[in-house]
Amino acid sequence: MPARQFLSEQEEQQIVEAINNAEQKTSGEIRIHLEHHCEGDALDQAAQIFHELGMDETQLQNGVLIYIATEDHKAAVYAGKGIHREVDEGFWDDILQILVQHFKNEEYEEGIEKAVHKVGNKLEQLFPYHQKGDLDELSNEVSYNNNKN
Ligand code: CA
Ligand code: CA
Repeated sequence: MPARQFLSEQEEQQIVEAINNAEQKTSGEIRIHLEHHCEGDALDQAAQIFHELGMDETQLQNGVLIYIATEDHKAAVYAGKGIHREVDEGFWDDILQILVQHFKNEEYEEGIEKAVHKVGNKLEQLFPYHQKGDLDELSNEVSYNNNKN
């Protein structure tokens, strides 16, 4: 499915809202990136996108990217160093499984929203929100590739 048709406008808004809510509780930053094709390994691509989106520049290295290649049915979760070293490897697999299970049933929005929620809870434990001086370092909008659909 083309990346631009993966979520309806309303669904996309729901996801942005879920990210907004999650980031009220943590200094961490969550982003969703959708693209059409992913030729290689999804995790490698996610690492590349993470960098392109400037997600490795957050102060506490606590950004989490959920990457989905909509046509190729690939997904990966990539986290900044600050959070990655704090959680068990199995945690990221759990997030991926949430996506996979829902995507099987074409529940795209629901899968992403649940994944955001779970990542948000983990970020909240590790990087609690400090109202003073906490910035929204990265946009909460779903991002797409400019050059592809
Ligand atoms: Ca923040
Ligand atoms: Ca943000």
